[in-house]
Amino acid sequence: MDKTKREWILRLLGCKLFRRQSSRVPLGVALSFAQELQKYLESLPEVLNVSLAGSARRWKETVGDIDLVVSTREPNKVAEQFVKHPRLSHILEQASDRILACSHLGIKVELIQVPPEEFNLTVFRDTGSKAHWLHLEQVLAEHGIIPELVQGSSVEEFEKGVYAALGLAYIPPELREDQGEIEAAVQGQLPQLIELGDIKGDLHVHTNWSDGIHTLSQMADAARARGYEYIAITDHSKSLRITHGLSEKRVLEQRKLIDQYNREHPDFRVLAGIEVDILSNSALDYPDDFLKDMDIVIASVHTGFKQDQERLTERILTALKNEHVDILAHPTGRLLGRRAPYPLDLEEVLEVAAATQTAVEINASPDRLDLDAANSRCLMERGGLLAINTDAHDCRHLTDMEFGVMTARRGWVEKNSVINSWPLKKLQRWLNKGK
Ligand SMILES: [Zn+2]
Ligand SMILES: [Zn+2]
Repeated sequence: MDKTKREWILRLLGCKLFRRQSSRVPLGVALSFAQELQKYLESLPEVLNVSLAGSARRWKETVGDIDLVVSTREPNKVAEQFVKHPRLSHILEQASDRILACSHLGIKVELIQVPPEEFNLTVFRDTGSKAHWLHLEQVLAEHGIIPELVQGSSVEEFEKGVYAALGLAYIPPELREDQGEIEAAVQGQLPQLIELGDIKGDLHVHTNWSDGIHTLSQMADAARARGYEYIAITDHSKSLRITHGLSEKRVLEQRKLIDQYNREHPDFRVLAGIEVDILSNSALDYPDDFLKDMDIVIASVHTGFKQDQERLTERILTALKNEHVDILAHPTGRLLGRRAPYPLDLEEVLEVAAATQTAVEINASPDRLDLDAANSRCLMERGGLLAINTDAHDCRHLTDMEFGVMTARRGWVEKNSVINSWPLKKLQRWLNKGK
């Protein structure tokens, strides 16, 4: 699904529900709108520079409003053009240097206008979080450092300069939550965060064999075009009829196609996987005897969300303890703005995942971002493993990987803990070892 279509569907299905739950917007929707506004502002001759700030620049999973900072000497002219943007429906507040507007989708946008000499510091401060900035200001004051005096050719260079004036390494926006990052920087112990370029493959994608729209070779070709070493094809299992889940016979037929693709592309590996349903009675949708021959097995809950916490937790724990299950997918089932997580003793789930060395997925779809950043950090601290997967049903969605990586970074995740940052050989060794 392309971004516009996704937004449209979200508007149709989700927005009413969403507004009832909260006034926050999922990051994916906010970012694509922010980019559109940014481009528009950049096209205005009076605009010298534009930057995103606020929680969207920190890649927070939901965003209260989009903060944009503009550098200009002619704020009135910029304001005049900005309020005419066709996707803004009304102006909530307007002052000479600040406009608060609302889009047709109900997304709030705050535009701050400053002269060029104030631009870098304004973006830094407005990126927040508030708690990080207040803490940093205190440290700057203790050291007698005046950030206004720091030079920088870009926002990032300026921010680096401010941290460097304190003898600190750069703290990227996604870590600025005052969750110990300043203390870690002071001790020289900031994590070596995973990067998008570290990802070597996607271990959760669907094809038109179940409910995806592209063929197996189209998905594999798209993964190769992204420079990946491997991809796991993980269509749905048989009980999930609405998705055309595969019978055992169909899985074996698909395997022939995978073998053929691998023969034709020796520089790349398609892993024969399955997204097996964890049924309401805790059993998996295929017998162990069948699962043991798959290259990779991901288990997930798609039904029975109304069960109580004890039942749902028990279902997931049973799957984690199954020696053939390699990854637990979208562990809480939440859909941002539309469906709350199902009741789950997540603490226990993470504990058992770490103990059994079953990887837990950060589902990178911006509608899910599940596991979230804070719980990914909890899992890391317990010595657990993660997989960052797009769950793409369309090859264009392989690009969602960035959302997953940024969520992991917000959770202080380093690449060693992410199984799909491992080279193929290491991943295969881990998959073959069993639990
Ligand atoms: Zn699923
Ligand atoms: Zn899936």
